[in-house]
Amino acid sequence: MEETGPARNDSQSIDGHVKADRKKRGRKVSRDVEMDIDYLHKAVPQLSKVFRITDKIGEGTFSSVYLGEAQLMDGKREKFALKHLIPTSHPVRIAAELQCLTVAGGRENVMGVTYCFRKDDHVVIVMPYMKHQPFVDILGSLSFEEVRLYIYHLLKALRHIHQFGIIHRDIKPTNFLYNRQEKTFALVDFGLAQGTVDTQIELLKELSGLCRTPRAVFGERNLNSCTPAPAKSADTKIELVKPSKTEDPATRAFVSVIRHPLSTRTPASSQKQPRTPAVNLGLTCNCYMTDRVCNVCMSRKQQVAPRAGTPGFRAPEVLTKCPNQGTAIDIWSAGVILLSLLTGRYPFFKANDDLIALAQIMTIRGSRETTQAAKEFGKAVMCSCELPRQDLRTLCETLRGRSSPDDEAMPLHPPNIDIANPQEPPTEEPGGRNAEENVPEPQDEGGWDQVPEEAYDLLDRLLDLNPATRITAQQALHHPLFTGF
Ligand code: ADP
Ligand code: MG
Ligand code: ZN
Repeated sequence: MEETGPARNDSQSIDGHVKADRKKRGRKVSRDVEMDIDYLHKAVPQLSKVFRITDKIGEGTFSSVYLGEAQLMDGKREKFALKHLIPTSHPVRIAAELQCLTVAGGRENVMGVTYCFRKDDHVVIVMPYMKHQPFVDILGSLSFEEVRLYIYHLLKALRHIHQFGIIHRDIKPTNFLYNRQEKTFALVDFGLAQGTVDTQIELLKELSGLCRTPRAVFGERNLNSCTPAPAKSADTKIELVKPSKTEDPATRAFVSVIRHPLSTRTPASSQKQPRTPAVNLGLTCNCYMTDRVCNVCMSRKQQVAPRAGTPGFRAPEVLTKCPNQGTAIDIWSAGVILLSLLTGRYPFFKANDDLIALAQIMTIRGSRETTQAAKEFGKAVMCSCELPRQDLRTLCETLRGRSSPDDEAMPLHPPNIDIANPQEPPTEEPGGRNAEENVPEPQDEGGWDQVPEEAYDLLDRLLDLNPATRITAQQALHHPLFTGF
């Protein structure tokens, strides 16, 4: 992170520059955006010497992204994306994001980085600007061929970063840019990335060192802020769903993940002795495999496990806070994207809470299957009613509107799950787009009348509930769906 030459602190010349810019801005930007651009110019004055900042193109909780135009030596103008990170971001977190971009970026469908500006605690990452279409805008008009291409290029990006031991942790359409005209793709946003045990990204190692600080809850993006997470979140008693006796089991499903002593064991040992809980902890527990939570379990500390990302894209092992999470979590998210592409529905799983998200997964992949997979990775998951596994072709064709139109109401959203305490605010997408669900018109064209079995087979393997057997990006690229690529 280097600063450019002497900063121009003379605010008058900056203001002058900004005003001139505003006149030159062809498109009308809102007053709010103008104020944000002015703020950025003041926060990082060096930017004014290089860029004409014309618009805001992205806004999240932890950054704002602007469009900047620079005049090159040869007189040509070139567009850049300027990502202004919130000033409270942890320095190691910022440096790790940059290192992912510099080491792995710039090829294989992974966004590169051009430069980085810093003034005090303000950091701006400069990247080549990539024109792209919002996923929701194009979802309804994609041909099957384009879907095949899209998922292939996403897997290519994942193979590449996984080779470096980078786990992205936030794979979703807004972080995978697609330029439809030029058929180009770019994976962005390493703001939540973590390293595998053998990662080649030095700063991701450092990051996991920081992550090991004893904190009861490993909150989302906790390294983005220097201020510790409020203690309240560590003590909140959640994840435990106690069905009351009056509920009708046919209409209400209950899902709970018990933070059981067994859950900290390795999958192998938990498989061998699934019904001998707590013996070596000297604690008496009598709730294992029942639908209650005993006091001993109520007072247990939450397991420390990373839980980053957006609920609807989180893998089962993330939702259940399994401590061993690897690159397979990105593959699951890619599976959720493919599910959206094949059904034409986005977002597919809409949940602000991990257990609701898990229940929604069960409605597609089956409750018994989910429980079994969880057991294999060492988690006791319970669901009060049985949800059958869905046939993926039938599901996708029905939702897309190709077959049995009266069946429209698929149990996408499971029946009334009671959750004691939803713990996260809704994740907002730039432009607040994920508020709307996209229901496309039934299509006869675009290859949707002959989706090959391979597409559903790949979907099935990406959405493997068990991370140990889930397909890798490398394997997926050799899947028969991509023969001829
Ligand atoms: P955040 O951490 O706030 O989600 P991202 O890096 O995902 O930040 O960027 C937010 C949005 O900004 C993206 O969804 C995308 O629309 C836009 N964006 C980011 N980088 C670029 C880029 N290099 N070119 C074009 N748009 C970009
Ligand atoms: Mg993002
Ligand atoms: Zn118990």
